[in-house]
Amino acid sequence: MSKSKKGTRRGGGARCPYCKTFYRHGSMARACQKTFLCRYHNAPGGLRKEIMDAQLRTSICVWFLMTGLKNSPERRLRARAMSLDACMEPLYRDLRRFFGYSNTAFDVSTGPITRLLFSLWPSRQPIDITHVAAVFSSLVSDLRFRLGPFWAKCPPEIRAPRLWAAIERQMDGIYDYCDPDGTEDYPHVDEVQPLYDRLHAAIWPSRPAPEMRLYLSGERFWVCAQTKAEAREILRTETGLVGLTVKGIALGERLSDGRTAGELLSLSGGKPGIIALAQ
Ligand SMILES: [Zn+2]
Repeated sequence: MSKSKKGTRRGGGARCPYCKTFYRHGSMARACQKTFLCRYHNAPGGLRKEIMDAQLRTSICVWFLMTGLKNSPERRLRARAMSLDACMEPLYRDLRRFFGYSNTAFDVSTGPITRLLFSLWPSRQPIDITHVAAVFSSLVSDLRFRLGPFWAKCPPEIRAPRLWAAIERQMDGIYDYCDPDGTEDYPHVDEVQPLYDRLHAAIWPSRPAPEMRLYLSGERFWVCAQTKAEAREILRTETGLVGLTVKGIALGERLSDGRTAGELLSLSGGKPGIIALAQ
């Protein structure tokens, strides 16, 4: 063993840079999973980068919609844009402090989705806000599903989970404002799913499209669907009921009858549709 290596050992192993826990071996310190910060930063298999990229890329979608809304002739949509804007700055501050990315790394992460968005909706053409909001609210909802297990253990000073929840509420608010009766007969309604698929693949390149999830609609219907957009479509075609909210439910969540959301979802047999009425 070389002198220098011996020296390192004698110097007392290594500390995890995030929680400062002492380990006898440097490799153990680098793999420390003790606190939320360690799990985030030392996440194996490139998970940390995936978690960062997904948030930065989804934030570009939010920013894209917000920019479109700021020029809207409708006062209430401009107000929604301001509310979204108020979330963005603290979100970026939080993410940058947390992940410590450079401007270059930010550009590398977000460049492809920015180009994709501008190719899907060229800047000189008017955007159909209902359509964009329907697609993007599903993408924001995805973040909560995917990162939920991480966020569940997140210390209160990390604001990203709360900010994303606020962004999701604003997105749903925009959607409901544009399509108050839930009629879904706006232009491009058939393009929601294919556009969602393309953007989802750009945000989560290594992940296949999500599995079936559980949604609660209007506090009345349990719906099994892949995305929020699909859950809305199911309600439209199966009930004809209009103007219901659609909320994604985490699978570990326990329902009022004692079942978990996952148990209820298993009743669907993996097929999209209304599974049950809520009590
Ligand atoms: Zn640690």
